[in-house]
This record gives sequence, structure tokens and C-alpha cells, in this order.
Amino acid sequence: MSETYDLVTLGAGSGGVAASRRAALLGAKVAIVEGRRVGGTCVLRGCVPKKLLMYAAQYGDAFAEARGYGWQVQTPRFEMARWAAAKAAETTRLEGVYRQLLAGAGVTLVEGTAQLEGPGRVRVGDRLLEARHVIVATGAAPVTDSIPGIAACATSDDLLDLQALPERAAVIGGGYIAVEFAGMLARLGTQVTLFFRDRAPLRGFDEMLRAGAAQALQAAGVELRPGSVPQRVGRADGRFLLFFGEERVLEFPWVLNATGRRPNTAGLGLALDAKGAIPVDDQLRTALPGVWAIGDVTNKKNLTPVAIAEGRALADSLFGPVPRRVDLSRVASAVFTLPPIASVGPTEGEALAAGHTLKIFETDFRPMKQAFIGGSERTRMKLLVDAASDRVLAVHMMGADAPEIVQSLAVALTAGATKADFDRTIAVHPTAAEEFVLMREPSRTVAPS
Ligand code: FAD
Repeated sequence: MSETYDLVTLGAGSGGVAASRRAALLGAKVAIVEGRRVGGTCVLRGCVPKKLLMYAAQYGDAFAEARGYGWQVQTPRFEMARWAAAKAAETTRLEGVYRQLLAGAGVTLVEGTAQLEGPGRVRVGDRLLEARHVIVATGAAPVTDSIPGIAACATSDDLLDLQALPERAAVIGGGYIAVEFAGMLARLGTQVTLFFRDRAPLRGFDEMLRAGAAQALQAAGVELRPGSVPQRVGRADGRFLLFFGEERVLEFPWVLNATGRRPNTAGLGLALDAKGAIPVDDQLRTALPGVWAIGDVTNKKNLTPVAIAEGRALADSLFGPVPRRVDLSRVASAVFTLPPIASVGPTEGEALAAGHTLKIFETDFRPMKQAFIGGSERTRMKLLVDAASDRVLAVHMMGADAPEIVQSLAVALTAGATKADFDRTIAVHPTAAEEFVLMREPSRTVAPS
């Protein structure tokens, strides 16, 4: 038996829930299909539990720092099982919130794996859902075939469900997920070795941040192995063997596979690009009429706020009075290392490649909180200013509260702020953020080569 809707959304993650709710609020009859749990990656296996683990890791630093501020602290001990139980309760609560949000908007939730049978036809078990529009918002999952044998290793999904942390671990990958978890594990007591292909982690981020991340990881006790990725992974007696050529083999009790993620496209029958993502045009249209795609499954900027913004804009375009597009040219993002990283705008290399002559304002200092206790943690900041127009093109920061600070500065950049606007802004004192309005002289002026 078939059911008819205005919109059927595949995937109840960040993008799918946002699109479905907005469409329903605009009067559309909407069904959303979810094959696992409502809430998707961010809420259940990504941003949220990851940040909750980061808070746990941060307490390790806080206990040590508290001593420098006059506190007497007993030797603290982290229990992963207690964290995991609290995390499970919180993600279950959030899943309930998402279910209520859908129900409150009048969206029909269909639980099961969706298959796209053609334009406007979605199969879920023996149910056939027909709709004028279909939005594919099926997200992505960890790759398990990047290295022969790596499927046996844990992924970030598994890590977040551990009941006890390993004493020693290898983390394979140089992206933000690898770097975040390597730092957290080290702070929670695991001896971590991080293997990555490049000379520095976090390819795609500004060089200042890449260097800062490498230093912070080392300071946390992570052993860095740049330019070094195993050719294959083997097993022996429940342990993992990382083969670097047949001669060199390293053994670890536990390995995190953070080598990347791949869009979930099984059963959709849509043409894919070379990276396995669904190609879309600037209106989020796929090659199939009436079928649209948003979020990680399109592999553009794989971030929750992007999936949400695309979902809402698409629903407005399909069911609202005025079509809308999302501008992805200036998306701020964060990496929750300790201290964290945040950026908005191009890297120095990207800005130069785009033809800008840059005035670069940089600072690197030991923040007050660290100086007081003799800590070594530093704060790094960088402003890229277009020399011709005085516009601030990018803000990069690594230091305490960087994501919170850069989020606010992203508003200024979106509004087109110039360096002169930064200069006439009175500082909030004493803060680290005030340095962004106090850097008067460029440390360098660089022209494109
Ligand atoms: P998802 O949230 O992945 O939702 C897709 C949904 O579709 C899933 O629920 C899935 O079960 C369902 N599905 C798939 N196939 C089918 C099918 N055939 N039928 C029915 N249902 C199906 N982003 C940030 O912005 N900040 C962060 O700090 C951050 N940290 C992250 C940390 C980790 C460890 C990970 C893995 C990701 C992180 N992300 C972060 C990325 C963020 O989670 C994703 O960008 C976001 O969830 C994408 O939303 P989406 O709607 O495209 O897909």
C-alpha cells in the first residue's frame, strides 16, 4: 500500500530533521525515514558526545591547574564506564527531544532503512512512500576499507561507547576527528601514538594552527608519527599489528581508525562522484527530478550547521514563498583539541592563491591563566587582511575559548568588517580575545607569487 506526502526525507540527522520540520511548519505533509536512531551523527555519535568527552578530558587539566591556584586536590581518577553511562543517558534524552520536535511539527516518522525506487518513490520494508519531493539526508559513516585489515579497528562510533579506555592506543588519521580523539585519550590516561600521512596534522587548516596542534598534542604526551601510515593491519592474540613494510611491525592493544568518512548512499541508486558523494547543483538538486540532497551525503562542508542551514533553505525553497540558497563561502569551524582551534575564512595559502595581497597580524602568547601557574600552553591568533580593501578576510585562533571567540568574530566578517573596524573597537579587559582588537602593526605583508 502506498502513502502520499509532499516531502519524504531520508535520514533523521541534523539536516533531515531541520528540513522536515521547516517544510511541515510551512504546511507540507512530511514523512521522515530513519534507519538507526533519531538525531543522527552529531547528536548520537559526533559533535555532542565528542564534546562531552572533551569536557571530561579538560577536567584532567583543571585538576592540575587548580593546584597552582591554591587548591589542594586529591589524585583524581577517570572512570570511562561512568562517563559512558552518563553519555548514554544524555544522548537518549536528546533523541527524545528530536522525536518530540518532529511529532510537534506534525512530521510522520517511519522507522526503517529507505530505498529510493525512482523519482518520488521511497521503499521502507513493505511500505511505499510517494512524494512530490524527496530529500536525501543520509549522512556519512567511517570508512573501513582505507587500509587492508583496518575494518577490525575501532571507529569513533566504537570509541564513544567504550566502557574502559585502553592503556595504549594507535590513532590512524590526521584529520580533526583523529586529532581531537588523540588529544582526549592522552589526557584521560591512554598512551597514544598518532600516525598520519602529511608532515603536520589537520590538512586544510592554516599552517599556524597545524603547527599549534602538533605542539599541543606533543605537550599532551601524544607521540606523533608524521608521514607514516601502516600499509596493512593484522591481528595476533587479540592485539593489532601495524605493518609499515614487511620489516617494520608495531603492536598495539587498541587502534582507532580515523582515516575518513564516506557518504551513506547504499540503496539510493543515484550517480556518485569520485569520492562516493551525491553531486548536487547550487540549488541542492541531484540528477534525478524531484530528488534533492543535503549535508554530509553531498560531502561539501561536513559540519552540522551546514546540514541544518541547507535543510532549512531547501525547505523554504520548496514550500515557502521565496527560494533561498546557502552561502558556504565563509563557514566558521572548530577543532576541539585542548586548547581548541577555530577558524573563519581562508587559510593564508588559500587567500594568496585567490590573488590577495595580505597584511598578516599575528600574536602568540602565554595567556594570563597559564602564566600564573607556570603553564606552557600558548594562545595563537592570526588576522588576514586584504591590503587593497582593508577587509578582514580570515580569523584563525588556537587557545582557550577559541570556538566561542571566533563564532562572534564570524558575524563581523560576514558583515564585511575592515581592519579599521577592529581597530576602533574598544577592548574587553582582561581577556585573550582583546588581542584581536589590539594588534596594530602587521607582522608581515605578503603578495601572491
Ligand atoms: P547525519 O547526522 O549523519 O544523519 C544521517 C541519518 O541518516 C543517520 O541518522 C542515518 O542513520 C540515516 N540513514 C542513513 N542511510 C539511511 C537510509 N538508507 N534510510 C534511513 N535512514 C538512513 N560537526 C560539527 O559541526 N562540529 C563538530 O564538532 C563535529 N564533530 C564531529 C565528531 C565526530 C566524531 C563525527 C563523526 C562527526 C562530527 N561532526 C561535527 C560532523 C557532523 O556530525 C555531521 O556533519 C552532521 O551530523 C551531518 O548531518 P547530516 O544530516 O548530513 O547526516
